[in-house]
Amino acid sequence: MEFELDEDERALAGLCRDFATGRIAPQVERYLAEERCPTELLREMGELGLMGLLIDEAYGGAGVSTVAFVAALEEVGRIDQSIAAAWQAHLTIGSLPLATFGSHAQKERWLTPIAEGRRLAGFALTEPSAGSDASAVTTRAERVADGWVVNGQKMFISNAGTDMSFGVTALARTVSANGEETGYGNFVVERGTPGFTFGEKLRGIGWRGLDTRPLSFDDVEVGDDHLLGEGGGGLGQFLSVLEVGRISIAALSVSLGQAVLDLALDYAGQRVQFGRPIGRHQAIQFKLADIATEVEAARWMTYRAAALRDAGRPFRKQAAMAKLKASRVAMWAASEAVQIHGGYGYMTESPVARFFCDAKILEIGEGTNEIQHLVIARELGCGD
Ligand SMILES: Cc1cc2nc3c(=O)[nH]c(=O)nc-3n(C[C@H](O)[C@H](O)[C@H](O)COP(=O)(O)OP(=O)(O)OC[C@H]3O[C@@H](n4cnc5c(N)ncnc54)[C@H](O)[C@@H]3O)c2cc1C
Repeated sequence: MEFELDEDERALAGLCRDFATGRIAPQVERYLAEERCPTELLREMGELGLMGLLIDEAYGGAGVSTVAFVAALEEVGRIDQSIAAAWQAHLTIGSLPLATFGSHAQKERWLTPIAEGRRLAGFALTEPSAGSDASAVTTRAERVADGWVVNGQKMFISNAGTDMSFGVTALARTVSANGEETGYGNFVVERGTPGFTFGEKLRGIGWRGLDTRPLSFDDVEVGDDHLLGEGGGGLGQFLSVLEVGRISIAALSVSLGQAVLDLALDYAGQRVQFGRPIGRHQAIQFKLADIATEVEAARWMTYRAAALRDAGRPFRKQAAMAKLKASRVAMWAASEAVQIHGGYGYMTESPVARFFCDAKILEIGEGTNEIQHLVIARELGCGD
């Protein structure tokens, strides 16, 4: 199976490559040193039509294929993983719950500004005591006469606290007026809603430009029109969106693998030891050949999962496998690339060290790799 991009898809990848090299690359070290999400660049991406890639044109998006989305992410992720992480979270878990389960009115109100890149989107699932076990969330939305009252805490939520954030879509347990639990719901909570607050930006070992924060919901009142879908099935809604998120993390991982391969190849051609470039020593050549081979394998697994989604076929297993494989490859390849750079690769100012620090989260976010094993085992018929 080949995944040839058509003319429009190649043009999109080219646009992303030009933006990443021309606009992001010159600024990346500065905004990472400031530990801030570069919303000015995300707004520019909106002007270029890049903030609603998977959203229908009717709601301000570009409606591109998942394969084209992966190609676009590859281009941005090779230059900076932080902005690519913010972008992909916006495009997938931030936008897709509204796009998939929202009503026409909800889409016109919230999705269009998101897809046009006037607002940044995020999704709030994780809580201090509920991460991998999403069903254990304790945030509650209690039914009142004209809507819902939301209470709870969220943890590690990306894209919710920037000057461009619209708010979040948050997963909560739904509780009827007489106190009975009725399932889960996804609620749109806009920034500025009384009782909705966020804490300080969290500092990770990588993704220093991603805005990730704890959130609080203290008697937050929202109307019925803030609930996506019928209600009750909110957990299933989110888990279905997460499958696309896994393709997205796989694409980020492939882009990181390619970035460290390019850096290591370049360095191996320049660094001379024992009278010749280190790339002429077979041990280094074999490392480079292994990285290239593994990145290629991860790439095709990722495009295959994307192509299955585009064909309307089941892709849960392939998305989990692609995420598992590609994130492992990214972590391992980054370590090998630092090794090829020797002591210079260990210094924080070296780009390869930056990618090394960015790699670890790929094995954790959007379902840890242990959870990917559980998903794959279940798909094989041997899980719980
Ligand atoms: C930078 C960053 C950005 C994030 N952005 C978002 C966001 O935008 N929205 C959001 O909702 N969340 C976000 N998260 C949260 C992320 O999705 C969670 O960290 C992740 O799902 C893991 O949850 P946890 O950290 O609570 O770990 P835990 O679930 O406590 O897991 C701890 C360890 O136990 C393992 N484990 C757990 N259960 C099992 C099991 N049944 N079998 C085997 N092993 C198991 C895990 O794999 C892991 O190794 C973000 C996290 C980070 C670090």
